[in-house]
Amino acid sequence: MCLTPRPVATGDGALEEGPTTDARWNVMQQTPAGWEAAELVPPSPTSRNCIASLLHGDRPEFFLYACILGHQLRPAAGTHGTDRVLLCGPGRFCDDREARRILLRAGWTHLLRIDPIEAPHLDKSKGKRHALVFTKLRVLELPYSKALLLDLDILPRADVDMSALFRVEAPAAKYHCGHFEGDMPPHGELYTPAMLEPYAWCPNAGVMRLDPLPQLEQRRAQLQSMLADIFSRSGATYLPEQYYLADRLSGWRHIDELWNMEVWPQHMDPGRTHPLLEARLETLMWDAEIGDGTVEKVLQSTHVWHFSGVHDTNPWKFLDCSGPADTFRLASLVFKARDPSGIVATAIVEWRTALDSAMARLDSGLLKAAVQELAGLAVKSRRWPCDACGELRCTVRALHDLPSEGVFCSEPWSELQWACSDCIVAKLHAGEGEECACASRRGVKRRKRRRFCPRPPPATPERRQLPHPIGVDSPRGDGLPMDLLP
Ligand SMILES: [Zn+2]
Ligand SMILES: [Zn+2]
Repeated sequence: MCLTPRPVATGDGALEEGPTTDARWNVMQQTPAGWEAAELVPPSPTSRNCIASLLHGDRPEFFLYACILGHQLRPAAGTHGTDRVLLCGPGRFCDDREARRILLRAGWTHLLRIDPIEAPHLDKSKGKRHALVFTKLRVLELPYSKALLLDLDILPRADVDMSALFRVEAPAAKYHCGHFEGDMPPHGELYTPAMLEPYAWCPNAGVMRLDPLPQLEQRRAQLQSMLADIFSRSGATYLPEQYYLADRLSGWRHIDELWNMEVWPQHMDPGRTHPLLEARLETLMWDAEIGDGTVEKVLQSTHVWHFSGVHDTNPWKFLDCSGPADTFRLASLVFKARDPSGIVATAIVEWRTALDSAMARLDSGLLKAAVQELAGLAVKSRRWPCDACGELRCTVRALHDLPSEGVFCSEPWSELQWACSDCIVAKLHAGEGEECACASRRGVKRRKRRRFCPRPPPATPERRQLPHPIGVDSPRGDGLPMDLLP
């Protein structure tokens, strides 16, 4: 399926120039439960650069993501490839010997147990699910000249050589800003001054180039200085480590979106339905960031999918499907109105195909058990029936904003109390650009017009009891899927 041209083959050759480091790991002093002291010191680095990611916690999807990412990052047969380092925080998988064995077989060359960095005071999310995101800064402690840090929910497509990103100078990441509407700089070029002021911008840390310092003492000192910054910092956000990195490091370069294509549908449920034309416009405001390209360009030229979304854009939400074909059928159905181009379904199927390939090669009971556990959770997440399509969907929400409870509406909104995001988007796009009939009725209560807001309105106490409308608690690019089981 992948039509991506294979980048220039890399290994320890031309791309690995630059300073060498002292090859010394920053090793934990105490041996955590589940580990042997000897395991805390990984083998010596075998390349100047490394690809790294971070696994911690107990959630089975992250173990799955780590296995799939390791599997996809394996170098072509017969080549040495770049070291692939998995930073291991505390959790039921990292602290389990059999899970570590599987992770190494999956494709990671080095596992490094690290202490988490906690900063709940900077995390605005409900449930403080971003409290540990600063842990990824430990990539700067790794004994490599150049590091490429990937979120676990990244899927390099078949035959993509990620080490091509070592050609980009650090620090580098895809530019992220909800308000900037200008052109992005070319891949690998500096963010322009117009992108920086006066916007609240940050790098998207899903695919990020950073360069560790050459000496262990320097690396430790840098981390200590960052920790001091973090603990004295104030102002909670949904993307705390990204905004911190924007402030702390200068000279950011842009990594093209093709290397960090966030898997979001073209049209989003705006979290409201009236006034109809405004709500319809907001579904478009959430358009996939296809940039100046076309759907075909995204499908053909994307190197890396990034499953940074919530709800049914999480690929494991389709694990109860029998295989890739069944996954494509269901994903195409549940995203019918929101993603008519099929980008989301394509990405989810490629993830499933990679998983099946990893499962077949690894033949691991532990991995199979994690898949089974997630398949059960996937079924459970679709527990609410939609009044419109009659199907169980995980994006079903209450329609709380129908004027006069919908009795004067032109669309059959009046029949609906609960609807899935896809049906809501389909209804918002139905008709010929007409405002809803209820708008012309006297005495019909209407919401006050308000300026466009890129996010759905905040949850009311009543709605807090319900599944979140898409996006309320998860601005784009936050890197970690949310647990949507209430
Ligand atoms: Zn529906
Ligand atoms: Zn209406």
